[in-house]
Amino acid sequence: MSKRQLVIFTVGPVQSFIASARKTEDFWSGSYILSYLVREAMKTLYQADPHCEIVYPLVSKEELENPSSRRLHIASIPNRFTAIVEGETEKAKAILQETEQSVRNVFCDFCFQAIDNVFPFLLDHEKEKLKTTTEAQIRSFLEIYWVAEPYDETAAFKQIRERAERRLGALKNEKRYESVPQHGLVCTVCKEREALCLEDIDEFDRYGTMKQKLERTWERCAGIYKEPEENSEQEQYVGRIKNNEFLCGICLGKRVARDYFTPIFKAAGTKFRTFPSVMEIGSGKYYAIVMMDGDNMGKWFSGENKEDYSRISQKLAHFSQKVVPNIVETDYHGRLVYAGGDDVLAFVPVDEALKIAEELRFAFSDEKKGLGKGATASVGLIVAHKKAPLQLVLNEVRRLEQKAKSYYSETTKQQKDALAIAVHTHSGEISEAVLPWTVEQEKITDELHQFLSLLKESLSPTFIHHFTQAFYPLLHEKYHLKWENKEMVRTELRRLLKRSMKEGAKIDNLDSHVETLMKLHDIVPSGYDFLYLLKILTFFKRKEGTEE
Ligand SMILES: [Zn+2]
Repeated sequence: MSKRQLVIFTVGPVQSFIASARKTEDFWSGSYILSYLVREAMKTLYQADPHCEIVYPLVSKEELENPSSRRLHIASIPNRFTAIVEGETEKAKAILQETEQSVRNVFCDFCFQAIDNVFPFLLDHEKEKLKTTTEAQIRSFLEIYWVAEPYDETAAFKQIRERAERRLGALKNEKRYESVPQHGLVCTVCKEREALCLEDIDEFDRYGTMKQKLERTWERCAGIYKEPEENSEQEQYVGRIKNNEFLCGICLGKRVARDYFTPIFKAAGTKFRTFPSVMEIGSGKYYAIVMMDGDNMGKWFSGENKEDYSRISQKLAHFSQKVVPNIVETDYHGRLVYAGGDDVLAFVPVDEALKIAEELRFAFSDEKKGLGKGATASVGLIVAHKKAPLQLVLNEVRRLEQKAKSYYSETTKQQKDALAIAVHTHSGEISEAVLPWTVEQEKITDELHQFLSLLKESLSPTFIHHFTQAFYPLLHEKYHLKWENKEMVRTELRRLLKRSMKEGAKIDNLDSHVETLMKLHDIVPSGYDFLYLLKILTFFKRKEGTEE
């Protein structure tokens, strides 16, 4: 019998935790709660087995007990951990059951506290009713999976880990969904679970009756959570629960998460900072979201022995806990939602977005800051108007990140390691392009910056207009993805650059600028990408330092 067990423990469902968000605060709290629950799981594991060793993510016992106050507001724990626990299989299973139960308890406590805070004037049996509904919702929502595989040091770590992964995958496939009987109207945020209601819903109730029952319940929430009267002094509470919002137990917990976390932050010696709304990100009417995901992470973690695995774990911990927050929040003016392992998501000002994306990507392949040589990452970057529905923008940036991940160049045969970038203007115009981060080991962003400074110094913004006029018609056929005659493109570019020079400006080395643009033209998948890329850069240039 093996005396140690390799354990993988996961909490989810990740997408549902973070998917339904009407406000940045919902989105932040979904990610944060998930990270917090996994943190609690690791703490329970350490308590149950003080000799256990958590190999991924690398978080020390001290850091778990006393997290650094500077980075406390960032969701920094991925939704799974790998550990080695002492004892035989049965003992490990008992420990894991205890860990799972503690995660469920913490999440229930979390949502129950929200009910107590939001509905302080309800009678006990009324609160109990809302909590019973919430408990059932949590039971069917929370997905916790774990496996324990005997860990014998004479056997290869890699094989044991792969066996554990396979068993975990099988467990997830077998999942049976526990359905919660629903009669009433669904929650206005997730549109999935039933909204909390004090009165029983009769199966013959009409829509209007059900709505009245909900309104009577939500009228009873404490004044500070209600939408204030117009011109009220309570500005800071604006919109916490709007008059037409009826939430389920889980979405309510997420919405008022800051009440739960404020004292925890205080105990850690720091002040709880609410997540800024999109309005507060950068100046002007637009903001950006950067989403990064490391490529081929499975390969990085495929080391033969535990030491290799731990080394990667350590590098990722350094990257996500130190390097990423420094780039996004210290060097620039962004706010991180999460930075766990190789995953990063941040809200950033438009004029800094490209720089932030670039620095994150190249830090990832830096020997000291990230995984080192050979590491690559795919990044989605979206620029959207502050009035665009957040849910839509989030779905789009996720799609862009996937688009970058499926980048493939016919000429260089390069896969992934790309940037997919899009600008959605208020008027509904969408420009979207994908390009690799490097070509022949050189950063492609150098070319982007070159063109940006050309736009800034010598080129009139009408350039993009002339360019579109000249080239767009040539792309009219659907499958005609590139302009075939490169010499023609080159000549036209030279002519248009000359023609679009600002008054009094002169372009010193016109040919080198033409070549910069030709290089960009060659590496993007299609003529549309090239055209849109230039449009996007013109947009960036326009937004720099302007209030438009
Ligand atoms: Zn909901």
